[in-house]
Amino acid sequence: MLNNIQAIKVSIPEEVTLIVVTKTFPPKMILEAYNAGHKIFGESRVQELLEKYEALPDDIEWHLIGHLQTNKVKHIAPFVKLIHSVDSLKLLQEINKEGLKNNRVIDCLLQIYIAREKTKFGLDQKEAEDLLFSEEFKKLPGLRIIGFMGMATNTDDLEQVRIEFRSLKKFFDKLRNKNHNIQILSMGMSSDYRIAVEEGSNMIRIGSAIFAKNSP
Ligand SMILES: *Cc1c(COP(=O)(O)O)cnc(C)c1O
Repeated sequence: MLNNIQAIKVSIPEEVTLIVVTKTFPPKMILEAYNAGHKIFGESRVQELLEKYEALPDDIEWHLIGHLQTNKVKHIAPFVKLIHSVDSLKLLQEINKEGLKNNRVIDCLLQIYIAREKTKFGLDQKEAEDLLFSEEFKKLPGLRIIGFMGMATNTDDLEQVRIEFRSLKKFFDKLRNKNHNIQILSMGMSSDYRIAVEEGSNMIRIGSAIFAKNSP
């Protein structure tokens, strides 16, 4: 596992942040990565994130990468480092409320829908842009939107994957010019992070390629 983390780190540019995705993997394995110097981890479910947060050292940066329900925001608001999966104004308003309660400005990414397959989650580019420049959004001092997250279609058609990442990078560049908080482009998982990085991702979220049973 440590070999895999090391191999991925040396294969990506220095400015790309690796989020080690630990869902379904036990705290013991996470601690091993932590002891080797890795401090940034991602979980997709709130309950699992909380259990690991309780069990593991305080200086870990925890990222929530999966869908977040408004009624669960309060549990992670005191400590979460970055929420990658924000996809509605209602959720933003709740994060804002909990951010203020905790005297924090909670960093968030808007999840942008780029894949061909139908999923329930994510905004399209127009919705995201409208949201970022809306009056409602200006009234949310308890959070900051610092970029976008996207997941490509789960397909062997790598050209399709590339086109999807490229479209999100273009959107990211456009919005970054208008809003200087926008700095993070979270795209790329085990199967497609190489393409994502080639297309301009600066944050990758990798689980199975690190922890898979048959890996060293
Ligand atoms: C599970 C998950 C990942 C990591 O996926 P792997 O294929 O295991 O690398 C990345 N992002 C999100 C949103 C996930 O849920």
